[in-house]
Amino acid sequence: MNSPLTLRELDAIDVSRLNGVGAQRRAALAGVDVETVFDLLTYYPRRYVDRTAQAPISGAAVGAEITVVAEVLSVTSRRMRGGRPLVTAEVGDASGSMSAVFFNQAWRERQLTEGRTVAMFGKVDSYRGRKQMTNPVVDLLGDRTGKIVPVYPQSETAGIATWDIASWVAEARRRCAPRGIADPLPSDVRTRLGLITRAQALDDIHEPPSMAARAAARNRLVFDELLRVQLVLRGQRLAREAHELGIAHEPSGLLVTAFGERLAFGLTDAQQRAITDIDVDVGRGRPMHRLLQGDVGSGKTLVALHGLLVAVQNGHQGALMAPTEVLAEQHYLAVRDLLSGLAVPDPSRLGGTRPLTLRLLRGGHSATERREMLVEIATGAADIVVGTHALLEESVEFNSLSVVVVDEQHRFGVAQRARLREHGRSDGRMPHLLVMTATPIPRTAAMTVYGDLDVSVLDELPPGRTPITTEWVRGPLAAEAMWTEVRAEIESGHQAYVVCPLIAESESLDARSAEQMHDELAAGALAGLRVGLLHGRLASADKEDTMTRFRAGALDALVATTVIEVGIDVPNATVMVVLSADRFGIAQLHQLRGRVGRSSHASHCFLVSDEDPTPIAEERLAALEASTDGFALAERDLELRGEGTLFDERQSGRSDLKLASLARDLEWVQAARDVAMDLVKSEGDLVALPGLADEIDWFASRRDPDFLQRS
Ligand code: ADP
Ligand code: MG
Repeated sequence: MNSPLTLRELDAIDVSRLNGVGAQRRAALAGVDVETVFDLLTYYPRRYVDRTAQAPISGAAVGAEITVVAEVLSVTSRRMRGGRPLVTAEVGDASGSMSAVFFNQAWRERQLTEGRTVAMFGKVDSYRGRKQMTNPVVDLLGDRTGKIVPVYPQSETAGIATWDIASWVAEARRRCAPRGIADPLPSDVRTRLGLITRAQALDDIHEPPSMAARAAARNRLVFDELLRVQLVLRGQRLAREAHELGIAHEPSGLLVTAFGERLAFGLTDAQQRAITDIDVDVGRGRPMHRLLQGDVGSGKTLVALHGLLVAVQNGHQGALMAPTEVLAEQHYLAVRDLLSGLAVPDPSRLGGTRPLTLRLLRGGHSATERREMLVEIATGAADIVVGTHALLEESVEFNSLSVVVVDEQHRFGVAQRARLREHGRSDGRMPHLLVMTATPIPRTAAMTVYGDLDVSVLDELPPGRTPITTEWVRGPLAAEAMWTEVRAEIESGHQAYVVCPLIAESESLDARSAEQMHDELAAGALAGLRVGLLHGRLASADKEDTMTRFRAGALDALVATTVIEVGIDVPNATVMVVLSADRFGIAQLHQLRGRVGRSSHASHCFLVSDEDPTPIAEERLAALEASTDGFALAERDLELRGEGTLFDERQSGRSDLKLASLARDLEWVQAARDVAMDLVKSEGDLVALPGLADEIDWFASRRDPDFLQRS
């Protein structure tokens, strides 16, 4: 075999085949997910030391930010007053010497041993007449030469140094050279996008002759990563279209009409568009896979309900699933009000109708109650069932489930999806799936992580809403002024939420802190008012009772944990106080804020920060203060967090994008998507491009099964 090497082939060569990789090194590499030559070649440098831009120590101007490459001459370490360690290294190059000082980095003494060559990046200052850098970025270069030296993410604990990796990468490339690296991308696509070959890119990313060459290499490799994802998505989509069976519904009918007529208001254009999308989907004999995305308060519930009613109207059942019991109860109560008194066509009865039956299935039912409910679900007597993901348990059997609505996508994983398929009917037809999320998804993510779903967006709020004013509350004086405002707002007849921070990953600790806060406020800032308490540890009946009283206006303020994050809808509540707001993420704060501003009354959101928020936390609070636009906030969030967390939420896929960044590479995401559409117009089109087809096949088989393989 002398054809150029494919990624599949590179992925079949164990790293232990390289010189110097014995059992111990092999294990260490496995610890950083490098097991094959493919892994190694795509273990990309974290940074580069550009020696063409390095300055001689003697020429470095005080105040400038520069890179010097120098030898360690001596190292000393001492304790300052208070016991903090101070490490000082003298370094020198051919032109002169300077010192580097490190505060609180005692380990530097071991790292910077005499005679080592290091690159230091930092600002030059002057101390007692000598040049000095304080806490510079340090890269150990070993004896590596070259104009641009790659610095690999290394593992101190595993004992792998950047030069070890560099030498293995170099060896791998050398040994691949005779056969070369295959390039499956059609050359016309490559030229059109101005991309270099894969072989060139893999060379230049590891050993760039110039920073411009490195940029070109990155472009090519980023494109490859994104194209693979897009082609997998495309393939799954086409396969689904060709093979999955769903239940075709007649979207219009008496039940849906009656529901529309009872609403006190007209639908927004956005709601109308989403409903039309759903009608088209459920009208076809293919299961719907749709994401309904809309900012808090945009009216997703009505749209979802429409889908469920279409199922019922056609003689099937609908299920509405929420991530927690509290939310399921919330949905149940909201939906119960909206559906009360509706009748379902039933030719077997006098008058031809029967009342629509809605059920909430939850823990805490008595055995008898539960059994009765399961019978109703199994016989089809229950039309719409609300619950948590426990609805997908084996003991729950539907007569004919045809539309499933899931609230909050990222908590609905593969396992649930698989079980949903099992809930498909005996004739192999699958329920239609609508996923609702209030989490605005940045455009790049919508095209990748969520790329397997069709999307409807509610980009418009119902009319008559007054925007929420948001204030970041810093310091005890400001907090005092805030409580005065909160009391005034309550005295004018409105209600307030007070959200307590997450203390730990433990529900019981959070509950305790909420309890404490409740007692403190009831005796202090909110004394004399009717203050309720809500957290995950309360019995269902207590939670429901508290919510009912709050909704009815029998409570002035509700002290709660983040259980109120989504779904709760009390238009008279106009104040949201979030304590220790710096501990929450942007998305979560935005969700919490969405609990107010649900009527024409002006609403306020107070974000109370702890004493010393981190700079990032300050950025987050500033962002929320500046904007109520969920999409703008999501983009900002992505900038601040990087895309890692986005994938973490889906527990998936991170390793698929080693170089590409969803925060920065929108253009390449778009380009990859266009190319994928262009190359694969119908199932089997990739056959004409065997190299690419094989690569996608390999890629799909090796990846985290939690990613993109949900359908
Ligand atoms: P979301 O779930 O998207 O946050 P909801 O579905 O809970 O929003 O709706 C928020 C509030 O707006 C509810 O009180 C709902 O009854 C109301 N609402 C929904 N659609 C409209 C509309 N078209 N006009 C007026 N009010 C609406
Ligand atoms: Mg809602």
